[in-house]
Amino acid sequence: MLVNMNAVLLPAKKEHYGVGLFNAVNLEMTNAIMDAAEKLRAPVIMGTAEILLGAADLKEVAAMVKARAESCPIPVVLHYDHGLTFEKCLEAIHAGFTSVMYDCSTEPYEENVRRVAQMVEIAHALGVTVEGELGHVGDNEGEGRLKNPSDYYTDPSVAADFVKRTHVDALAIAVGNAHGDYRFPPKLDFERITEIAESVDVPLVLHGGSGLSDADFKEAIKRGIAKINIFTDISKAQVKGMQEGIAAGVNNAFDLTEYEVRAIREVVEEKMTLFSSVGKA
Ligand SMILES: [Zn+2]
Repeated sequence: MLVNMNAVLLPAKKEHYGVGLFNAVNLEMTNAIMDAAEKLRAPVIMGTAEILLGAADLKEVAAMVKARAESCPIPVVLHYDHGLTFEKCLEAIHAGFTSVMYDCSTEPYEENVRRVAQMVEIAHALGVTVEGELGHVGDNEGEGRLKNPSDYYTDPSVAADFVKRTHVDALAIAVGNAHGDYRFPPKLDFERITEIAESVDVPLVLHGGSGLSDADFKEAIKRGIAKINIFTDISKAQVKGMQEGIAAGVNNAFDLTEYEVRAIREVVEEKMTLFSSVGKA
């Protein structure tokens, strides 16, 4: 069934487990993620992000996910990750997304508060949850790469003010995490996660989950992370599945699908197990 983020994150926060957000930009990903969630009875968050819309647009992703989620007993959140503009967030809500992230983390603080609070007012009136970002999670490579990432870490003393004034349902934080492949082993600031968790009452979100160690995830969840974003890992798994199929002599796309779905599903199952969300749905 389709639900908003509160339906899966509030229990996760209370019981100290993590729920994965797995972006699904094609049907192989959609089916693999849903297969894993159903098999393991794990609540799941699926969706796409603004920078991934080239693969499938908001309506296409909504149609793919809804086709599976509506007839499924597992709670599924359809979440729009890193919405960068007001218009695209509204488009997502209109397309049936049950949750949006309005990422104004590169704006000055007061502007971030103003924009996110406005989005929350609209979204909540429609039963849609909102995630905001405080501090800024950069990329490991390319234009989004930060020179001194620690300058952009979430300030625990500001987090309470941000949540109180915006009424966000979940807060993405910057604590040494980054998007894409890590070039060096990341070092998360666990103490900061604890400090933020103690100062706000909403579930915390860790972006850039692909590439963190198992121990990192466990510690981060223990300290208050309730949602973890994974994309790079499943995107690579799909390619690995394709390569395995080709190496096994498959030479047509239809037969390759099975290899792709299996490879993605294995990664999703591994993460759900690691996050302790198995059996929670
Ligand atoms: Zn992110």
